[in-house]
Amino acid sequence: MRSNVADSNQKNRQELERRLAEFVREEVIPREDLTRAHDRDWFQYTTTELAGIARAAGLYGPRLTPEHGGLRLSWSDCCWYFEQVGRSFLGPAALGCAAPGQPDIAVLEHLATEVQARRYLHPLVAGERRSCFAMTEPAPGAGSDPKMLRTTARRTAEGWVIDGHKWFISGAMVADFAIVVARTEEGVTWFLVDADNLGMRRVRDIPTMEPFDIGGHAEIMFENCQVPADAILGQPGRGLEYSQWRLEGARLFHCMRFIGLASRAMETAQGYVNQRRSHGVLLAEHQLVQGMVADAHIDLYAARLMTHDVAQRLDRQDAIRHESSMLKVFVSEAVNRVADTAVQITGALGVSEDMPLSMILRMLRPFRIYDGASEVHRAAIGKRVLHRQITP
Ligand SMILES: Cc1cc2nc3c(=O)[nH]c(=O)nc-3n(C[C@H](O)[C@H](O)[C@H](O)COP(=O)(O)OP(=O)(O)OC[C@H]3O[C@@H](n4cnc5c(N)ncnc54)[C@H](O)[C@@H]3O)c2cc1C
Repeated sequence: MRSNVADSNQKNRQELERRLAEFVREEVIPREDLTRAHDRDWFQYTTTELAGIARAAGLYGPRLTPEHGGLRLSWSDCCWYFEQVGRSFLGPAALGCAAPGQPDIAVLEHLATEVQARRYLHPLVAGERRSCFAMTEPAPGAGSDPKMLRTTARRTAEGWVIDGHKWFISGAMVADFAIVVARTEEGVTWFLVDADNLGMRRVRDIPTMEPFDIGGHAEIMFENCQVPADAILGQPGRGLEYSQWRLEGARLFHCMRFIGLASRAMETAQGYVNQRRSHGVLLAEHQLVQGMVADAHIDLYAARLMTHDVAQRLDRQDAIRHESSMLKVFVSEAVNRVADTAVQITGALGVSEDMPLSMILRMLRPFRIYDGASEVHRAAIGKRVLHRQITP
């Protein structure tokens, strides 16, 4: 009996995976237009249209609950889901699992009061409002070192007044509200701030190499930004702990989806070397090319296994701080190696915009910096191992 249930779950999962792969291949990827990599209106229009089709097909929202029209997959099942969706630049936004909304939903589900859930969480889940997460600051404020946070929130008779300067805040150009990280007397604290607050001023959208971003990477000034007492999200003084926790989930999702994008790059490159000839034979017959393709597959295999292992740990509700750091370093670097190899063996076409490879490289490169730069994670991993005498 038990094995019948397991068989049926397995079949349902395989069927969902097959339909999702078909949807990404036949509906999502064909709508990509590389000439519109920085056209936000087009991106919004196209992904909204696709989201409607995905909802109707029962493919939308991997982490949303069924009552919110989602699939509520386990973290482990998210691995195959995000890998498929991540193959397209449009996939995560079209299927309701793009950053910053996805990790913001996860933290709001845990921390929001009922009133906050009605005002922020439910509209975010329904796609009616958009969020951003504002932590990073220009020098001398917080970047790699969150303890350098300079944004402050001062208590007043009516609530709080926030003052500070943030930048590289993804999605902020179109966000309806921000989760703002600020220093209070109690320690680092999270606040919910509506984007139409007169004290929150979007100074500019900072142009970056990243294509197909949802709502830019904004520089924001908080000047005499008055918010009510109930704008605090979670408990005062626990903001650094919450930020760490938010990042662990966000990193994992990025790893899952970028494995999809890197795999697509390698598939595209394999198609090229199997047709293009050089020095009398197909490129695919040159051993140097074969070795590069082999290394890329080894990277992808290891990246998938590590990602799945961390997802399983999260499903068991294990602490993943150490593993999440190792995962982030390895996968962010591995997918970049894979995409770089794909570009290299595709020659000039690889760096052109006739093919998606150069866009894939631009999409993947910043991942070695955000969610913790490789160097910062390596330093933390090494310190933890040596101080706690963790055996290999
Ligand atoms: C595309 C993109 C999207 C982003 N989205 C958001 C967002 O939505 N919200 C948000 O708050 N922030 C966001 N960020 C900012 C990101 O979190 C920061 O860039 C990151 O934390 C690094 O901070 P920094 O840029 O100030 O680099 P710095 O702190 O100035 O560090 C620069 C470099 O120095 C090295 N370094 C730093 N510390 C150490 C160390 N201890 N040991 C060795 N080397 C070190 C690393 O190589 C690092 O890359 C985004 C960034 C990018 C690129």
